Amino acid sequence: MNFSDLQLIEPIAKALEQEGYQQPTPIQQKAIPYILDGRDLLATAQTGTGKTAAFSIPILQNLSKKGRQSKDIKVLILTPTRELAIQIDESIKSYGRNLNLRSLVIFGGVKQGAQEKDLRRGVDILVATPGRLLDFISQRIISLKNLEVFVLDEADRMLDMGFVHDVKRIVKLIPEKRQTLFFSATFPSEIQTLAQSILKNPVKVEV
Ligand code: AMP
Repeated sequence: MNFSDLQLIEPIAKALEQEGYQQPTPIQQKAIPYILDGRDLLATAQTGTGKTAAFSIPILQNLSKKGRQSKDIKVLILTPTRELAIQIDESIKSYGRNLNLRSLVIFGGVKQGAQEKDLRRGVDILVATPGRLLDFISQRIISLKNLEVFVLDEADRMLDMGFVHDVKRIVKLIPEKRQTLFFSATFPSEIQTLAQSILKNPVKVEV
């Protein structure tokens, strides 16, 4: 399978070419059509499989087709560590380089001033670690009331790092009508329960 089989819009196809990607990885082949279609997804995938592009590319395409209607956050990608958050944001900026969408990364351990200033300019796609996101929400600097897509990345690591309570709090603050994409390398029972509680009729993809 080639990227041309995935019916990507020209600005994204071109960005992938500029990135030097020649073929979609297995997770990308399996997941992209369903995400483009608006389905929820439950994916078993390790880092290194190309999972970031598997969710970022269709999210960018769906957002781009709708056009930029407001300054509200439309996509939230929740990930356990600052390093992962930065990597995901860099990937989104790269795949979306020919589109007119804004992504931003926020994480704890640094002063919030610069992040706050960036947030106030309006953000389409927010990549965040749980603690800093909840801080901004409690200060009413971030509202997720118009969120359309929620991505939970590395759910099992989120659990190992003790973030499960934060994740549940965040899920309560986002609209029920949304698309949810759930990624985890392993599926212990606690992760299965969490997945069941936040996904609706998901497509299951394993690589
Ligand atoms: P990830 O699993 O998302 O951490 O991605 C692992 C690495 O694979 C990253 O460095 C990506 O830039 C790269 N990558 C993702 N998709 C492709 C692709 N289709 N072709 C070549 N490299 C890719």
